Amino acid sequence: PERAPRRPIRELPDELISQIAAGEVVERPASVVRELVDNALDAGATEVVVKLMAGGVRSILVEDDGVGIPADELPLALRRHATSKIASLGELESVATMGFRGEALAAISSVAELSIASRTEGAPHAQRIDARSGELVPAARGRGTSVEVRELFFSTPARRKFLKTDATELAHCLEAVRRHALARPDVGFAVWHEGKLVEQWRRSSLDQRVREVLGEDFVAESREVQFEIGPLRVVGRAGTPAAARSRADQQYVYVNGRYVRDKLIAHGVRSAYEDVLHGGRQPAYVLFLEIAPDRVDVNVHPTKIEVRFRDSREVHQAMRRAVEAGLAPPQAVVAAAVPV
Ligand code: ADP
Ligand code: MG
Repeated sequence: PERAPRRPIRELPDELISQIAAGEVVERPASVVRELVDNALDAGATEVVVKLMAGGVRSILVEDDGVGIPADELPLALRRHATSKIASLGELESVATMGFRGEALAAISSVAELSIASRTEGAPHAQRIDARSGELVPAARGRGTSVEVRELFFSTPARRKFLKTDATELAHCLEAVRRHALARPDVGFAVWHEGKLVEQWRRSSLDQRVREVLGEDFVAESREVQFEIGPLRVVGRAGTPAAARSRADQQYVYVNGRYVRDKLIAHGVRSAYEDVLHGGRQPAYVLFLEIAPDRVDVNVHPTKIEVRFRDSREVHQAMRRAVEAGLAPPQAVVAAAVPV
């Protein structure tokens, strides 16, 4: 076979590097929603509003009442590997924010039109930056940040073709917000689509939020989980067999407040059901694992949806025992049944 002539090694242009990174971070509108809501929460928002057009393909606007971005830092917010969240390796190892890679805004702006309007406390007015032109203009809004993303994949038609119908993309966007909403009952969320309010969760308690997001039926057919072993703590709710589903579509797991998909955890939880759930039935649950930051590495996946544990057996066991304890009949009732 004929060999192609060797080409010299070159450094890729910035724009292309961001587009490559975007391939990992931005799959569809819901990925954008997830990143922008992450940023809003990292900024200390108490209210987050998401406004979508055409399932988020045409536009995504995420508004928050967080600390905002000072005008002179707006250009930096769009730069690759620029972040206010970590400054050293030590901080990376104990990072408590959702973000830290400084990649999302740069990646998104390389595959869509993006603008940020933001105002910090005490600033005389907001400033808006347009990612394409880099131009800064005064804007009107209160303290906080609005990020608008338009025409996702407009310059990469091949990727745009992978998008599904608006209804499907909207469903994915809603799921992205739902995942955040379950973890942060102390924050209010609203989602608008085509000018209509489609979902709203007011600030409340975890119990109330779970009820609103997963429904009355899930709450009625689930048990509270509250378990502690060594450096691990598991809280949440585990569905009884009556809440089991044919699909694994109500399995929410969080590690230190971050939504994750983890086979090890899923297996640990599933094993707690081995005697009570048969066939392909899938348990429903929402579980929050709290673990010392030095026992988990969150920097293993560009979207951080996967994590790596220092001691995976410890985590597997904790999840299993936490759910088993939650599903076991309450001790008090058993004791009361014993004749005296
Ligand atoms: P990361 O979140 O990993 O730091 P991003 O590209 O998502 O990277 O954001 C870059 C920076 O822009 C953040 O570190 C933060 O300082 C700022 N920023 C982004 N969104 C917001 C927001 N909604 N409110 C305040 N600051 C923001
Ligand atoms: Mg971010």
